Amino acid sequence: MKIGILTIGNELTSGRTQDTNSSFIARQLNIHGWQISVMMSVGDDGEAIKVAIDHELSLSDAVIITGGLGPTADDITTAAIAGAFGLKLYTDESALAHIKDRFDRLHLEWTANNVKQAVFPEGAETIRNPAGMALGFFLRRNGKVIVVMPGVPSEAQKMLPEGVIPVLKREFNEAVVHVESRTVKLFGIPEARVDQMLSDIDFNGLGVSIGFYPNFPEIQIALTARCTAEHEAREKVKRAEEQVTDRLRPYIFAYDQETLEGLVAGLLIEKKLTLALAESCTGGLIADRLTDIPGSSAFFERGVIAYSNRSKTDILGVPQDVIDTFGAVSERVAGLMAEGVRTLGKTDLGMATTGIAGPTGGTEGKPVGTVYVALADGKNIRCRHYAFRWDRRRIKSISSQVALMMLKKYLTGEREDG
Ligand code: ATP
Ligand code: MG
Repeated sequence: MKIGILTIGNELTSGRTQDTNSSFIARQLNIHGWQISVMMSVGDDGEAIKVAIDHELSLSDAVIITGGLGPTADDITTAAIAGAFGLKLYTDESALAHIKDRFDRLHLEWTANNVKQAVFPEGAETIRNPAGMALGFFLRRNGKVIVVMPGVPSEAQKMLPEGVIPVLKREFNEAVVHVESRTVKLFGIPEARVDQMLSDIDFNGLGVSIGFYPNFPEIQIALTARCTAEHEAREKVKRAEEQVTDRLRPYIFAYDQETLEGLVAGLLIEKKLTLALAESCTGGLIADRLTDIPGSSAFFERGVIAYSNRSKTDILGVPQDVIDTFGAVSERVAGLMAEGVRTLGKTDLGMATTGIAGPTGGTEGKPVGTVYVALADGKNIRCRHYAFRWDRRRIKSISSQVALMMLKKYLTGEREDG
């Protein structure tokens, strides 16, 4: 089955809001093994909506639409769809009662335009909204299906699996299939190289589809199998995963929902070790990522953003003459920052970053992208030098990644290379 996605709203076509609904819907439908034939966005414009739906229907068995179901005058999706197919509009009394009931319960003031959210094209069937006011609906046209959901991402994200996917399965008589999916997360290898290293695996033969999802600085590989028997799907994904792991082991750092910061946090908690950070070029990004993990207070003692040279000497005790001799961006200074913050925080571990994020500040000897990351444990200081390209934001991001990778390797006793 092929599916088209259409997102509607002037906020999308004006560029004020980024269309996240399309990618969310596409991802979910892909997991179910459905192909996306087309994705489009149009403004709140009846003619554009009509043309877009016609076009998408010519390429698809079903079209999923989001946006423009609200009560305000600019929300015209329902009327536009009715107009496009020459359907009358009707007020669904039970939907109206449901909306009024919600207003009462939430102590909201009722205004007449809210009736609009209970109006549907003739022949439409409503879809419950588990997260908001506006109901979704679907229509059948010449053996095809048009589904409409609210534009609010949190609402669409709940309605899709709970109300829309079951409708699609039912309308297209899709046998109940079990979908098994495994995400493998990689770091430190370019996407093209991943592709090359997997090129000899016959994923078709294994009954598994593979998707690449670069999510800077990580690359995610999704392995998906659809089978009527659950154990069969699981078995297929497992076999594909073994082959992938076999070829890419040094680059794999996590699976599925696991995150690098989550793994590092888990390891620090398990080993009862505490950490202090001295961040220069990462500007607190490592601390931000680690404190995203619930329970981080068990291991995270403090973070210092030691951006200026003075802060490196004042707070962390890096001698001025070392900075003068080696430069603030140097292995020596990174190591002293790590040890300095460790001493200051009385922690087991101290970690530091110092680098040139650019676009200015680079020199011939130390170009933009030069980054040092150091980890001190009271006995040793390990330090690594990196030469990144990329822009400022990505240098910060990848620097936080290599720092967390260094911590993970230290904590698991893996070799520090690659
Ligand atoms: P409501 O009942 O809340 O008005 P609606 O169906 O009318 O729902 P819209 O008015 O189109 O939805 O959008 C509501 C909010 O959702 C807006 O803040 C909008 O920016 C956001 N939104 C709409 N479409 C998308 C999309 N495709 N991706 C991300 N956000 C979106
Ligand atoms: Mg609206």
